[in-house]
Amino acid sequence: MRGARIAAVLLALVWAAGAAAEPLKVVATFSILGDLVRQVGGDRVSVAVLVGPNGDAHSFVPSPGDARTLAGARLVVVNGLGFEGWIDRLVKASGTKAPVVVASAGVTPIEEEEGHDHAGHGHGAHALDPHAWQSVANAKRYVATIRDGLIGVDPEGRAAYESRASAYLAGLDALDAEVRRTIAGIPEARRRVITTHDAFGYFARAYGLRFIAPQGVSSQSEATARDVARIVRQVKRDRIPAVFLENVADPRLMLQIARESGAKAGGRIFSDALSEPGGPAPTYLDMMRNNLREFSAALAG
Ligand code: ZN
Repeated sequence: MRGARIAAVLLALVWAAGAAAEPLKVVATFSILGDLVRQVGGDRVSVAVLVGPNGDAHSFVPSPGDARTLAGARLVVVNGLGFEGWIDRLVKASGTKAPVVVASAGVTPIEEEEGHDHAGHGHGAHALDPHAWQSVANAKRYVATIRDGLIGVDPEGRAAYESRASAYLAGLDALDAEVRRTIAGIPEARRRVITTHDAFGYFARAYGLRFIAPQGVSSQSEATARDVARIVRQVKRDRIPAVFLENVADPRLMLQIARESGAKAGGRIFSDALSEPGGPAPTYLDMMRNNLREFSAALAG
């Protein structure tokens, strides 16, 4: 009799533990968003990321496995602003009933220049620049939107999500101050860099570092000798102190431009994707600090 009671108690405990340990399945479209969801969700969530570390969401082609991942999700978090051109079809094909949260809702979008060819995937005229997370103020909006989305599907977790989000938001405030301090320490005339793909518009607007994308070259097509010569002239003419490599783009072009123009080749910066867990940018905070370190190392007087 006593044994049966103990067994029943044990069973109840196992059941309770099982129920508590069953995390909410959330799908985030790319690695940076995945990190933000993990920061807010903690161990209440299990996050699947469609475009993983060092992946390029612009040119991503979803697989049937991605549709299955979406079908099993309780919440889907996307960037929006046209970043995931493939997401609407994928959501539809998956048949998922999960709410889709647009993390960038509420940010003030930057309109891309007319005819600007983003990473070789021309968004056409008047497209919006999707890289809103590169401003920390925008990342704070992402976090608030993610927090509210999680509470929407898991109201029992409200207190946990609110407290994790507010701790993380405080960390973002500290990061924002650090970015401003560091950029302020770079001589104004040297606050200009050239990057392989035009992903830092929001960073530029928020922090006053000028980013110049190589004119007329996309990361998808081979740059001709003439393209390279034109960029080298541009770098010299505008006295751009450093060129940067991005984790999602082909580094050869930038290295060649640095060599021929005499500009410094900056280290690797992360624009659209995090690094692998052991790398220099496994989280959003690490990514922003990595980029900041690289900018200031290459631009300091
Ligand atoms: Zn991009």
